[in-house]
Amino acid sequence: MTDVFALAKEAGFRESFLLPVNPYTDWTRHRNDGVFHPNANPLAGDPQEAYPWANAVLICVLPYTPYTDETLVASYYPASNQGYHAMKRLLSLLKEAGIHAERAETPYREQLASYGIGSRMDNQLLYLEPYGTYLNLQGAVLALPEPVPYTPRREPQEVCDHCGLCKTVCFGAILGDYAFDWTRCVHTYLEGDPIPEDAMAWMPSLLGCMRCQAVCPKNPKNAVPIPEHVRETLDPVAILKGNRREAGDLIGKNLAGPNRLLRQAIVLAANRGRTDALPYLLKLRETDGERFSGELDYAISLLQNESNAAIMNCRTKRGDSGALNSQSATARLNSRPEVNCCEVGLNTER
Ligand code: SF4
Ligand code: SF4
Repeated sequence: MTDVFALAKEAGFRESFLLPVNPYTDWTRHRNDGVFHPNANPLAGDPQEAYPWANAVLICVLPYTPYTDETLVASYYPASNQGYHAMKRLLSLLKEAGIHAERAETPYREQLASYGIGSRMDNQLLYLEPYGTYLNLQGAVLALPEPVPYTPRREPQEVCDHCGLCKTVCFGAILGDYAFDWTRCVHTYLEGDPIPEDAMAWMPSLLGCMRCQAVCPKNPKNAVPIPEHVRETLDPVAILKGNRREAGDLIGKNLAGPNRLLRQAIVLAANRGRTDALPYLLKLRETDGERFSGELDYAISLLQNESNAAIMNCRTKRGDSGALNSQSATARLNSRPEVNCCEVGLNTER
């Protein structure tokens, strides 16, 4: 019989679990009650009904290592793209082995937790030894020849001790004792069109935040510096310049779409004082101003104020007199892609 676990490893996953095709009635009820983010709506709470031909669900784990500094992007996002492609490889390996399989649109965390594999945490993530919550899950439904080598069910374990640290650093979504309000998670705010103005001001990084994982004492402390190619590809000004293809290769086409990545890059550039973004923001206002009007107004005004302040500061140091108006500052900024305020040098955060 084909060793599906070996195929999952060959595809790039660290480990995998083969579960029966059970219905998840509680999960479905909660989903229908609106407890989960709308991203859960297309998932099959009853995989038996959705995949009547299948006799197993293979859930595969791709662990990742957090970055020491996740203020640009969390390492989860490149990892989730890797996981997506690893599952694509696995599906073609299964096909070559003569096994009918499809990507499983099922609630993986619920499946693993209810089978005793992994444990639910207050931050809504699944904890799995030895990776903690640093894992990307992908799943496939399979039609395997009997008998199916299901992973043995495990004794459920309580890992979260409700210490409250994740709740302390969260923006209001984590309520404690497994309760969660997805409407107050950063991920939800950042999906706004436009992003709500107050959320723009405290937007922590591109795509979302992972503070609730970084602070969790149960997670391994194995962070690594952000790789240079990730820093360069997702640099907000690089995104404004139009590196959508490179970004898509790194984090996946869906996340790299303009409504998400470009919209957020506009805001992050401003929050980071990236005055070198101003020429690109002004150009974007001409070409796509309506679509991104909220974010562009926010970013341009913030950066123009910052530029003016820096130029004023520079003039004061030189002993110049007279006030600068924002028009002349903008004209100077537009005249060069890299904005530095003469000798003083406006910090462009490199
Ligand atoms: S930080 Fe504390 S409360 Fe939050 S998930 Fe970790 S152990 Fe649970
Ligand atoms: S991702 Fe951020 S906002 Fe969402 S639950 Fe975790 S800490 Fe809270």
